[in-house]
Amino acid sequence: MSGGYKQCTRCVMDTTTALIVFDEKGVCNFCHDYDKHAAESVLRDRAIRYAEFDQLISEIKLQGKGKEYDCILGLSGGVDSSYLALIAHDQGLRPLVVHFDNGWDNELAVKNIQNIIQKLNYDMSTYVVDWNEFKDLQLAYFKASVIDLEVPTDQLIVATLYKLAKEHGIKSILNGNNFRTEYILPRDWIYSKKLDLVNLTNIHKKFGKIPLKNFPKIGINDRYRYQKVDGIRMATFFDKIDFNLNEVKERLIKELNWTPYPGKHYESIFTRFYQGYILLKKFNVDKRKAHLSSLICSGQITRAEALNELKLPPYPTELQMEDRNYVIKKWGLTEVEFDRIMAEKKVPHESYGEEKGANLMNRLREEVKLIYRYQILKRLGLFK
Ligand SMILES: [Zn+2]
Repeated sequence: MSGGYKQCTRCVMDTTTALIVFDEKGVCNFCHDYDKHAAESVLRDRAIRYAEFDQLISEIKLQGKGKEYDCILGLSGGVDSSYLALIAHDQGLRPLVVHFDNGWDNELAVKNIQNIIQKLNYDMSTYVVDWNEFKDLQLAYFKASVIDLEVPTDQLIVATLYKLAKEHGIKSILNGNNFRTEYILPRDWIYSKKLDLVNLTNIHKKFGKIPLKNFPKIGINDRYRYQKVDGIRMATFFDKIDFNLNEVKERLIKELNWTPYPGKHYESIFTRFYQGYILLKKFNVDKRKAHLSSLICSGQITRAEALNELKLPPYPTELQMEDRNYVIKKWGLTEVEFDRIMAEKKVPHESYGEEKGANLMNRLREEVKLIYRYQILKRLGLFK
């Protein structure tokens, strides 16, 4: 890094990401990027956004007519998915709610989920992951010294949601992506190709110990097939409706008996420890900076408030130590092994291989198949 430490004058992003650049006023590229995309999404005319929202709700209902469920929702008990559950209820949607138990739930999350299900009278199925396989994969990522230890969980969730949607004939997956609270996220702080199965397979081959027989996986091409052939889509709400984090939390507390968490995505013990300890100590990444910067850019907090929050540890140090012992034990490591891996240098995901060229070819192949199928149906008079 040349030029030493520097922090954006508008948000709290800084030179701990190699991808930051500043303009002559000291404002960073993440701010500019936020503004540019906000103008195309959350800052558009309110009436237009809400018309799109209504249209989306109508489509989901229409596609789900006569079926047991019209959409599917992955519920973690965190702000975004809990609010999605509430909006779905407001709008009269009939979601199949799925909770993913990857072995790292905390009690608070479980309580929140139970309250939501009860209050909103939803059906919920809990997907319990094969813990030995999941542990093996998660540990492989840790041993590989790659930055994104959440890929296994993201794989599990996305793969299972699509699979269940297809099985139940559901066309819409409610998506909790939230522009205003999480748009800013440097690409060197995560692995953005979460569905890269080449990367996952190679990391697991090198560092895993047992075969992944039950773990649900999804590749970029699998998702493409679900979307284009099966017509399953991700339905994103939050960029269409108003979203003020404090107001949303208040509503959740009042209407769903929801208990707030100290950090973002701290509903999982692993995520809390990963973001508040591993990322910070091994990779020198404080993910709160990205989250707080999104909130600054969307006008929900001031820069001074964010700076104050950053002065505190991500979460209480006693709890960090408690989590540390818990994670080491649950992963079956010794303290020495854990510290040795923590001290190893970061390895870029890409160095374990990535899915690229083949992907485009497969997409073209799928397109040709679709056109071919359409022509046959047309010839048989089944498609008008
Ligand atoms: Zn900035």
